[in-house]
Amino acid sequence: MRAVLFQDKQLSYQAEQEAPKAGPKDALVKVSKAGVCNTDLELVKGYMGFNGVLGHEFVGVVEACESQPQWVGQRVCVDINAACGVCDTCVVEKQPHHCPHRTVLGIVNHGGAFADYIVAPYYNLYPVPANVSDEEAVFVEPLAAAFEIPEQMKLAENPKAKGYRVIVQGDGKLGLLIAQVMRLYCDEVLLFGKHSSKMALVEPFGVTPVLITKTPVESFFKTADIVVEVSGTAAGLSQAMNLCKPRGTVVLKSTVAEGAALDLSPLVIDELTLLGSRCGPFDVALQALAAKTVNPLPLIQHRFPLEAGVEAMAVAASRGTLKVLLEL
Ligand SMILES: [Zn+2]
Repeated sequence: MRAVLFQDKQLSYQAEQEAPKAGPKDALVKVSKAGVCNTDLELVKGYMGFNGVLGHEFVGVVEACESQPQWVGQRVCVDINAACGVCDTCVVEKQPHHCPHRTVLGIVNHGGAFADYIVAPYYNLYPVPANVSDEEAVFVEPLAAAFEIPEQMKLAENPKAKGYRVIVQGDGKLGLLIAQVMRLYCDEVLLFGKHSSKMALVEPFGVTPVLITKTPVESFFKTADIVVEVSGTAAGLSQAMNLCKPRGTVVLKSTVAEGAALDLSPLVIDELTLLGSRCGPFDVALQALAAKTVNPLPLIQHRFPLEAGVEAMAVAASRGTLKVLLEL
């Protein structure tokens, strides 16, 4: 099969990569479209020590599934956390995203989706509703990660949530999705960023852009009920704590690889909650796309054929680029 491979610190396009073998619990999915994520860019810098086919944001069609043949022919999105399905974390605690034995598609010990084929356990498959296009469905993984925040904070069940002020720090791809999603639960969502053209994309959804190069951030100190840190900078967490009201919540949504000296005293003095947040519910993200309450399509900036995967990665890595898609 064709594939974009990261092996021995080299990114390359392979015309004749060996296709992955489906195990008894696996489905073989033919990939239709895939998205380049910041995590992919981190992986080629050495994050997680990954070797293999990259890619974890994708939509495809099930081509084979030995144990659940009814999936064959179904258009699907696939949860990237491939849990074992038999350990206590999976069965008793029902937290497969935290299965200690899990592999992660295109990230941890599992081949990814920048290829003609990918395998994944059948219980990771989610059918894509007919009114959700492939281009929308390719955003389900990051959109699910955005929906993890309201799920963790139980915002839908909180009668006060509507009145919350939310600040999303960072106007990258994930920040733009998170701002849209948070606006579904809270009436005031401010998006802090440096790129007015990017932030303008979410204004139609009722998100208020704040250009931090022009507006003093200090004027927002201690005003937010929730601050979502997705800028990916070491200074971001410190600023997020300052933006939070006493007893507010700081949500950490970016894995900042670099360490930073950090004054944690605001956590104690203001009794802040610090919430780590990673992968989220695929079903909720697909429902939102079907209901058209969110729209990721304005984020698409470039489309490349799989053969140009190396170039696609380079374009995605250039500053300020939004979503780059690979079309198979
Ligand atoms: Zn498990």
